[in-house]
Amino acid sequence: MAPDKQKKLIIVSAPSGAGKTTIVKHLLSCFPDLAFSVSATTRAIRAGEVHGKDYFFISELEFKERIESGDLLEWEEVYKGTFYGTLKSEVDRLMNKGFNVIFDVDVVGGLNIKKEYGENALSVFVSPPSVADLEFRLNNRKTDSAETIRKRIEKAQWELGFAPEFDYILVNDSLDKAKIEIEEKVADFLN
Ligand code: ADP
Ligand code: 5GP
Repeated sequence: MAPDKQKKLIIVSAPSGAGKTTIVKHLLSCFPDLAFSVSATTRAIRAGEVHGKDYFFISELEFKERIESGDLLEWEEVYKGTFYGTLKSEVDRLMNKGFNVIFDVDVVGGLNIKKEYGENALSVFVSPPSVADLEFRLNNRKTDSAETIRKRIEKAQWELGFAPEFDYILVNDSLDKAKIEIEEKVADFLN
């Protein structure tokens, strides 16, 4: 079934470590009619993550089959050898249940979803105060190897260049302040 275009989409994108996941979790706790689009990925599961809740963790072979079958709304090789993609079935399922949908996707994927949904989507770029802060947060999070963190920091500068293409830039410096700011912005958009 085609997605219900009346439902609204909140797209949250940023370099890794900027605070997307934290912001998305906050918005989910504030808005009961908002549901998270669980993406598919080929990356290894982290401690504490749950298959089907954080991601659908699948093999590269299965991911490529999904691309071939046209199952993905968008997909990216976000880091070399690691694929992420939005499942059409997931977005349809949530919209058909009456939810507005929130996405945690990379900057290119975010802009692609915005292009598809136009005015029905609010694209938000979460900006860190600095690249040094990103590195500090990723090290502090303790979920990725030094090599993974290096790759993510290397990509961050390029990703920051996409910020002006988003509907809204949220600077995540003080987390409490950022939460209030985005809560107000999303409330306005959904109403
Ligand atoms: P992303 O999903 O963008 O990779 P996370 O939400 O996982 O980022 O945040 C990265 C780390 O930084 C986490 O450990 C999180 O608790 C922390 N964090 C998030 N926002 C802030 C902030 N404003 N100040 C300091 N640390 C933060
Ligand atoms: P992580 O491995 O830290 O969970 O995510 C790495 C990056 O992949 C983040 O920027 C995240 O937003 C992005 N990502 C997660 N799911 C998707 C998706 O479905 N599509 C795209 N394009 N990026 C995604």
